[in-house]
Amino acid sequence: ETATKNEEDYHSIIKDTEKPVGESSKHEFQAETRMLLDIVARSLYSEKEVFVRELISNASDALEKFRYLTVSENETEKKIVDKDRPLEIHISTDKHNRTLTIQDTGIGMTKDDLISNLGVIAKSGSKAFLEQLKAKEGAADSSIIGQFGVGFYSAFMVADRVDVYSRAVGEEQGYKWTSDGTGTYEIQPAEGVQPGTKIVIHLKSDCREFADDETIKNIINKYSNFVGSPLYLNGKKA
Ligand code: ADP
Ligand code: MG
Repeated sequence: ETATKNEEDYHSIIKDTEKPVGESSKHEFQAETRMLLDIVARSLYSEKEVFVRELISNASDALEKFRYLTVSENETEKKIVDKDRPLEIHISTDKHNRTLTIQDTGIGMTKDDLISNLGVIAKSGSKAFLEQLKAKEGAADSSIIGQFGVGFYSAFMVADRVDVYSRAVGEEQGYKWTSDGTGTYEIQPAEGVQPGTKIVIHLKSDCREFADDETIKNIINKYSNFVGSPLYLNGKKA
């Protein structure tokens, strides 16, 4: 490593190539999701960092699903898979814009996937979380957020907006999903979306620490032993 290698070089790994085009459609979160998001956003839970683990684990799952397709015997699946795609997770921090970005080259999501996977609670952990909460008559003991792991939605503990760019395997068209975690989210077709999924977390002002390279490095070191794919932080192998 030479001293001339500056932060700029590292940031260049994740490129801002996406351009939303055409009609944007507005959707409402399912009632249960709204309830969960409301609790998550207001949470004073001290271990907010678990959202990094959740997003990395989703990226890792997406890569695993892609990998599964590459060994498929199914003719249609064989056709859509690009065999030389590098299977990686890239994370970048941007203090200036107060963002944290997590990008994977995994299976990606279609427009329908974005609606059914990010708008509805399917995850057993989230369901268990809500049940626990009901049992406690709504007394939001926020430590149970960590106990159950609320998956993707945990991003809203630290974000005032989350943008998801995704292009599913075999699809030409990519999409931008965006939400501030209140009642609704919007979906818009986008050009320049890379295969896989890129999640841009716009951090709340009191969560700016997650735009810091060193902070994220420490969190990754704590949780990353379960990741089965190469993980890069600001262009460096993490
Ligand atoms: P879980 O991972 O337990 O299913 P999450 O809330 O973490 O629950 O994620 C919900 C769903 O959203 C996932 O099951 C997956 O279908 C989709 N998803 C989330 N992140 C990604 C990603 N990076 N790539 C593809 N699909 C994703
Ligand atoms: Mg998950």
